[in-house]
Amino acid sequence: MTSQNKTVIPMLDVKAQHEPIKEEIKQALKDILDSGQFILGPNVKAFEQEVASYYHIKHALGLASGTDALYLSLKALGIKQSDEVITTPFTFIATAEAIAYVGATPVFVDIDKYTLNMDVSKIEKKITQKTRAIIVVHLFGQPADMDEILGLAKKYNLKIIEDCAQAFGARYKEKPVGNIGDAGCFSFYPSKNLGAYGDGGMMMTGRDEIYENVNLLRNHGTVAPYRHCFIGYNSRLDEIQAAILRIKLKHIDEYNQKRRKLAGLYTSILGRAIQCPLELPDRTHVYHQYTVRTQEREKIAHTLKGNGISSVVYYPIPLHMQEAFNYLGYKRGDLPESETAAEEVLSLPIYPELGLETAELIGNLILKTIKD
Ligand SMILES: *Cc1c(COP(=O)(O)O)cnc(C)c1O
Repeated sequence: MTSQNKTVIPMLDVKAQHEPIKEEIKQALKDILDSGQFILGPNVKAFEQEVASYYHIKHALGLASGTDALYLSLKALGIKQSDEVITTPFTFIATAEAIAYVGATPVFVDIDKYTLNMDVSKIEKKITQKTRAIIVVHLFGQPADMDEILGLAKKYNLKIIEDCAQAFGARYKEKPVGNIGDAGCFSFYPSKNLGAYGDGGMMMTGRDEIYENVNLLRNHGTVAPYRHCFIGYNSRLDEIQAAILRIKLKHIDEYNQKRRKLAGLYTSILGRAIQCPLELPDRTHVYHQYTVRTQEREKIAHTLKGNGISSVVYYPIPLHMQEAFNYLGYKRGDLPESETAAEEVLSLPIYPELGLETAELIGNLILKTIKD
């Protein structure tokens, strides 16, 4: 580690992940270029089948992005104008944007201080005659409280969409997240645990009617060449991304395992000094981010930066305080746990290629900073 003000340890290192698989990827790309088939070809089909079999789920559909996966799932479930959809304010904006895209109203439920996921004890109070669905986010790779959420869905006849953009391979009671609600939505944005070399997404479901609907929606409602049964969209995964994802899918368990090892090390060093992510029983957290909470965030981030180590605040503004959602009429104080979390969270570098020795140095540096 150097004391220069230049970042030497990034939040993630996509080049390091590429290195050991680059020859395999070059060959796959060459095959696609030679084949001339770039959209909805054999790689997309094979990738869908491979993911479906990894998840033990009936259907998986490649899409253009995680945002589209959420949007098209809501569409396929019939969520529309004047419906309400419950979700967390402590997430990436795409979760709630998708709700707005179908004309429905996002209704934010505050989070749990420790898991940073939706506080399930606060959901019921927000359910009204208009509530149709819940979008549950498995934030930073930590599975949310699915039993309680499924219980509410049953009681009030609500649809459940899982936003698994940060949680590929995470498990809740042995079940992989994404295969618990009505639809599971994934992003393959390059920084995600399973990352493409461009944009990509996926929707998975065990229900035929949702699958058939999204399958048509992603390709202009095309039932046969130039025959369209309804107005759809262009939201397809391309062959190049699918081929890259097929290669990376073979390593996803190993990638996640390495993230978990690094997280365990961070927690063993920092666990007594600072609030670290929880390892809950019956759940496999896949640490898309390793996020601590501290009132000394500025000081820690400053020291890390001085030592060439990155750190990032995910997320500095909860969605109910975002200008984009001003029209919903929330004000400061409405969702206090989310607001405090936004002031205290700090995500540390975590990626499969990060060395354990480096994580140990980072952990010890933070420990020293807290004690100084
Ligand atoms: C990344 C992300 C998305 C959006 O995925 P894109 O592929 O970038 O559209 C949605 N929700 C969450 C929680 C995310 O982290």
